[in-house]
Amino acid sequence: MSPAAAELPPPARALAIGAHPDDVEFGCGATLAKWAAAGAAATLLVLTDGSKGTWDSDADLAALVATRHREQDEAAAVLGLAGVEFLDLPDGELADGLTERALVCEAVRRLRPDVVLGHDPWKRYRLHPDHRHAGWLTLDGVVAARDPHFFPDQGLPAHRPRRVLLFEAEEVDHLEPVDGFLDTKIRALLCHRSQWPATMRIDASAPDHDAQLEGFVGRVRSEAEAAGRAAGTGPAEGFKLLDKV
Ligand SMILES: [Zn+2]
Repeated sequence: MSPAAAELPPPARALAIGAHPDDVEFGCGATLAKWAAAGAAATLLVLTDGSKGTWDSDADLAALVATRHREQDEAAAVLGLAGVEFLDLPDGELADGLTERALVCEAVRRLRPDVVLGHDPWKRYRLHPDHRHAGWLTLDGVVAARDPHFFPDQGLPAHRPRRVLLFEAEEVDHLEPVDGFLDTKIRALLCHRSQWPATMRIDASAPDHDAQLEGFVGRVRSEAEAAGRAAGTGPAEGFKLLDKV
């Protein structure tokens, strides 16, 4: 059965949780841009510092972290987000223990999102451990936030989001149409210039870098168009929708 394409009502507040700078843009950038344009206050929570996001073994990692913060802020501005928060946990070493869960819980309680978006921890054969752990932290943080007996010393009222959307989903059952917002997603992704070589396969110093850039843009576009085509709609982002949080 093809997943349904349906527009969720734009939330008043949304919280998107990503392991690294650029994950959220890949997973749900167009949906966030659409909601922001409709007046939603969407905040991005980046769990790690992005300090392993280079293939250059001689890289200055402190400078890389600063660059990735700046790139993430620029991308968030392109999407129209209300803000970005960085937990700056060490890249590649993200754990989903109680300490990290409390940090996510605190953000959910403080920001009081109607919708939380995050990595799908059930995605099979996913290689990067941070993406798996970020998925668990999103779900476990939401459960903790809604129950006042978790982390009572936070001094914040419990908060229950209306729904959770998991991107990179193992089983897509919701397609959010993003017609008109795909270019915004692509512009936001391209703000992450430090990730051009490794993640986007764009070598800015190569003679054919324009073609490489076009290739990346084409891949993002095709993925969204293919997702929507299955449901007979225009470009879409696919999610697993958890509607009874
Ligand atoms: Zn990532």
